[in-house]
Amino acid sequence: MARQDDDFKRVISHAKEYGYVFQSSEIYDGLSAVYDYAQNGAELKKNIREYWWKAMVQLNENIVGIDAAIFMHPTTWKASGHVDAFNDPLIDNKDSKKRYRADVLVEDHVAKIESKIEKEVAKAAKRFGDTFDESQFLATNQRVVDYQEQATAILKRLGKSLADEDLADVKKLIEELDIACPMSGSKNWTEVKQFNLMFGTKLGATAESAMDLYLRPETAQGIFVNFLNVQKTGRMKIPFGIAQTGKAFRNEIVARQFIFRMREFEQMEMQYFIKPGTQQEWYETWKKTRMKWHLSLGLGKENYRFHDHEKLAHYADAASDIEFRFPFGFKELEGIHSRTDFDLGSHEKYSGKKLQYFDHETRESYVPYVVETSIGLDRMFLAVFSNSLQEEELENGSTRTVLKLPAVLAPTKAAIFPLVKKDGLPEIAQEIIEDLKWDFNVDYDEKDAVGRRYRRQDAAGTPFCITVDHQTLEDKTVTIRHRDSMEQQRVAISEVKAIIHKEVDMKSWLMKMG
Ligand code: ATP
Repeated sequence: MARQDDDFKRVISHAKEYGYVFQSSEIYDGLSAVYDYAQNGAELKKNIREYWWKAMVQLNENIVGIDAAIFMHPTTWKASGHVDAFNDPLIDNKDSKKRYRADVLVEDHVAKIESKIEKEVAKAAKRFGDTFDESQFLATNQRVVDYQEQATAILKRLGKSLADEDLADVKKLIEELDIACPMSGSKNWTEVKQFNLMFGTKLGATAESAMDLYLRPETAQGIFVNFLNVQKTGRMKIPFGIAQTGKAFRNEIVARQFIFRMREFEQMEMQYFIKPGTQQEWYETWKKTRMKWHLSLGLGKENYRFHDHEKLAHYADAASDIEFRFPFGFKELEGIHSRTDFDLGSHEKYSGKKLQYFDHETRESYVPYVVETSIGLDRMFLAVFSNSLQEEELENGSTRTVLKLPAVLAPTKAAIFPLVKKDGLPEIAQEIIEDLKWDFNVDYDEKDAVGRRYRRQDAAGTPFCITVDHQTLEDKTVTIRHRDSMEQQRVAISEVKAIIHKEVDMKSWLMKMG
């Protein structure tokens, strides 16, 4: 745990030091769980968004993108179920005055039991060596079987009490499991209460005429209410998708994990409208497709896993998370949900307008079913950033800090250095910049020894450094240094653009999705 904490602290301080993420309103001591993206962060975020948008919209003839407003008619949130059901159960510790999500306290307790199982497996694997059969061990080792049963029973009971809104039982469960406040160790808990996560605001000038509004807690509803407009004006045929990226707002009870859980964040969502009865097939297809998108970025297959939900949201008939190994363990990065006709059906009811699709072949109308993919842009940023930050031992015994961002996402693609600040070298470096800037973000640096400039660019995540030296004056060549291998090549200035292009071109990265 201590190592994980240190790794995570390093990620947060590196994000600040290299101009990726700042605390919001820092000069006023910040605002809890609200962050600003800095000069490099804004670029990385934009590149991730573009990588997603191209994969979803540009590469799929039957998916189009929209940009709906953050404010929506308040009835939207009645229809979607958010007014009545977008609650988290909260509990306070009376001694430490810390507030927690009651379900998360129980889930963390289960995670501890699961890590005991993992430890037993690791121990046994070591003892038995090549002959170790993990599934047999899991099924037959009494201690592991007991742990597993405990974990399942706890989750089942939690699921049932939440579904029944039996908050007294959630509290009882916390007491029975002897769960203590992680900050203080105290077990002196308040009752469990429901807390709605939507931010309210008002529209209108005078108190009497003002209308109560909410800041949208998800982007999806902007797509549902526009379903028919898009279908008709785009002459879309089922199956088709509508994609969107944009801000969402949730008054999270506990928000202590940097940009993992924010109160203002950005989502990238796609709702895929399908014929009822085909949802299972599309759900499986989108699970696979989205995983391929993730894997194309090369962050390592072992860092992803699916987590299929047993406890389903009010709108879903199947749901799965793509979890990523963050510095604090595996956590949800993206959700894939089979939402049935819940949303469109409910908007029909509340608006009194038909939201149906007319199938010209079968000559029938129906409310389509929906499979959605929903990923947090900020969580994706954290996944990419934390996974890329590495400390490397070098051959000469020293270490370097390097941010091995996938080159396609890196904020700056190349830094151009004159070896010295004289003899016409800065001018040539500027000429190279003038040529490259039309294709890529590039940076100029003439301060300090070249070795230090390399280190700075490594830490900022720049995939290429190009050095202009005295030989350049003679033969128009430069050295190009690769961030990850640290390999240096002597190449003609005229070749530089193509070399960079080959590594950063979005098309070739996207093609890895297969
Ligand atoms: P969690 O269980 O972590 O609260 P959720 O299941 O409520 O998340 P969804 O409503 O499915 O999340 O939202 C889809 C995606 O939006 C999530 O997979 C996540 O990447 C992102 N997301 C949700 N809440 C936040 C938040 N507070 N900050 C940043 N990203 C978020």
